[in-house]
Formats: sequence, C-alpha cells, structure tokens
Amino acid sequence: MAAPSSPAAGIRHVQDLPVEGKRVFVRVDYNVPLEKGTKRVTDDSRITATLPTVRHLIERGARIVLGSHLGRPDGQVKREYSLEPVAARLAHLLGQDVTLADEPVGDGARKVVSDLRDGQIAMLENLRFHPGEEANDEQLCRQLASYCDVYVNDAFGTAHRAHASTAGMVKFVTAKGAGFVMAKEIDFLSRLLGDVDRPYVAVLGGAKVSDKIEVLDALLGRVNAIVIGGAMANTFLEAQGKALGKSKVERDKLAIARNFLRKAAEHRVLVHLPTDVVVATSLDGEGAPPVSVDAIPEEGMALDIGPATIENYRGVLTAARTVFWNGPMGVFEKPAFAAGTVAIARALADNKLALTVVGGGDSAAAIAQAGLADKVSHVSTGGGASLEFVQGIDLPGIAALRP
Ligand code: ADP
Ligand code: MG
Repeated sequence: MAAPSSPAAGIRHVQDLPVEGKRVFVRVDYNVPLEKGTKRVTDDSRITATLPTVRHLIERGARIVLGSHLGRPDGQVKREYSLEPVAARLAHLLGQDVTLADEPVGDGARKVVSDLRDGQIAMLENLRFHPGEEANDEQLCRQLASYCDVYVNDAFGTAHRAHASTAGMVKFVTAKGAGFVMAKEIDFLSRLLGDVDRPYVAVLGGAKVSDKIEVLDALLGRVNAIVIGGAMANTFLEAQGKALGKSKVERDKLAIARNFLRKAAEHRVLVHLPTDVVVATSLDGEGAPPVSVDAIPEEGMALDIGPATIENYRGVLTAARTVFWNGPMGVFEKPAFAAGTVAIARALADNKLALTVVGGGDSAAAIAQAGLADKVSHVSTGGGASLEFVQGIDLPGIAALRP
C-alpha cells in the first residue's frame, strides 16, 4: 500500500501521550549483536538509541513494559536468544533494575507486569520465542495488549514487518504513539517523499541489484540523478557490454539492469556509473592501481570505485540539495577497498546545504566507521525498513500508529 502524502499525519509523539501511572508497552529493537560464548552485548547502540523514550517514561512515572525480538529463534524457546544480557545492559545504562520475565507471555509475564510500580521497568522475554509473534496471531496480540494501557513503538527497524508486537496488538490498545527513535525516523524519511530541494541525488551501492531494484525503480519518479557503486555497479557495467573479469556480477539480472537504464533515460534521470575501479585478484589482496572499466583484467575483481569515479561522484554530491545513500561503494570492510565508500561519506558530511540521509545496515556501519555519522542530517536505524519507506510503501508498524 502507498503511504499517505504525510506519513506522520495523526501519529502522536510519546511526549503527548497520557502515561502517568499507566502501563506502557514499548516495542523496542534490541536485536543487538552478542559475543559467542560470553553472550556479552558487543554493540549497544540500539539500546542507547531508545534511552530518550525510556527515560521520558520513567520521569513521567509510567509502568514500562519493554518488548523486543533477538535473532531468529523461529517461534521456539532457545536460551541462546534470551534477552537476559540485554536487560542487564539496559539496567546498567539506566542505573535502575530491569525485571526480565522468563517468557514473552503467560502467567509469569503477567505477574511481572502487574507487580510494576510507577517508574519501574519490566522486559518480556524474546517475543520470537512465541510462534504467534511473526505469524501476527490474534490471541497473542490480545495477550500482549492486555499488559498495557498505552502502546508506543520505538522500533523503526522492524516497522516493515506486520508482526504481533509491531502491528497486530495495536488495534487492541486505545492510546498509541511513536517513541523518540520512531518519530525522528518518520520525520527525516518523510522529507525524502515530499517536496525536496533539488537536485535530489540517490547513491545506491552494496551487494546486489536484486536486493534494490524496487528502490531503484521507485526512485526514478523522484530523483534527478542516481549514482551507482559497489557490486551492483558491476552488473550495470556488464549490461553495457563491459568485461568484468572475476568481479561479482548477477548474470541473471542483466536484462533488468538494461531495462532500468532505458527507463531512467525516459524519466530524464541521470545514472552515473563507475569509469574506473580498484581491482584485485583476491579479497585479501592489496588494491592494485585503478583501471578503466574498459580494461579490467580477466583474473581481476572490481572491489571499489576508482579515483576518477570518486571525483565525479563528489561533484554530483556537492551540487545536490537532497541526498539519500544506501549501500557501500566497495568492500569497505577491507581497508584496501574502503576509499570509495569513505569518500561518499565525506562528500555527504561536507555538503552542509543538503538534506543528507543514510539508510542500510552496512552503510550505517560504514559512515560510523568513517567517524562521520553525526555530520549528516540523519542515519536511519533501519535497513529494510528505510528502503521500503523511501519507496513510498506504508510500513505496517507506522500505519498501526495512525488513528
Ligand atoms: P546495506 O546493508 O547498506 O544495504 P548491502 O547489504 O546491500 O548494503 O551491501 C553491503 C555489502 O556489499 C558489503 O558487505 C560489501 O562488502 C559488499 N560489496 C560492496 N561492493 C562490492 C564489490 N565491488 N564486490 C563485492 N562485494 C561488494
Ligand atoms: Mg547489508
């Protein structure tokens, strides 16, 4: 379904909800990476992101019930996916107890929730221990809704999923709204759908054309130019008849790529492709001197965009007044092939006149790694969710928050 022209319309902010003395269910995204064995939380940014919402509710004297998934236990109780380390980390960050129920729903969970006093926090065990979560089962929705008077969604990263805790339970709760994370995501991403300052440039990269062809297609109706890099660019280059050696190419997507380039021309959207690339014979290799895309050796793999391409893309991004970036320009995990991605991050950071929005798990990691995350307008916490949002799809987790 297409999103209404203003996706935020009618959605209340948690600050405007009556929460004093009320039981408030907050859907958070605490799907954090854990160290194997020790189960230590290795990156707590998804937890710290929700602190404004949680602290606001504590200060207002709400009785807070947190719900999240962690990993893919597939509807079964699997202890290795327990939220226990997450509850411990949150308690540490807040300097306050967080009581973890040992199940997502049931008598134990109900007891933990009913024992809450104003300003206290309970966390339900991993919601995906219950098969009804991903199935959006009505009975589970009713059970979860019975634990609260107010529903708050602060989990943008799962807003594209119509699950019990993100969508289904909401219709059984009267007061509902968006937490600080969710509200900020809707605010910035909506700006990309409205009347933007131009030129509007989309930078798309990453692993596969097939992951992103829907976004590419949807962007044709909105942007002035599309800048392509990463393995995705290889498929486009091969579609134009270049020889890509041993580069990652989706051979079954060449027709789609050609078709896209034709449609872009019809829409008068400029598509920029690499003119030079950094080539190596293995991922552990050093980046050899850059070569023209017309001279890629048979044994070589294109693993990053080259300096001439960087110059060109930088120029396009400096002139832009709105930028959406998803997908790294190369194998940025390896320093030898990170220059293109870092250059794009820097070009966005340097453009103070533009609205600059970054989405995608690896792209967000790349801009953080470059130390530039706070120099752009917004880095989305959602990978798939941000891509669906910029396509103009009405995400079930957001739609559920409207009156
Ligand atoms: P995001 O998570 O930001 O949406 P993707 O998941 O689509 O991004 O793509 C990221 C992955 O693409 C990275 O692991 C990166 O190493 C890989 N990648 C980028 N460029 C290339 C390339 N030229 N060859 C192989 N892999 C690439
Ligand atoms: Mg990714």
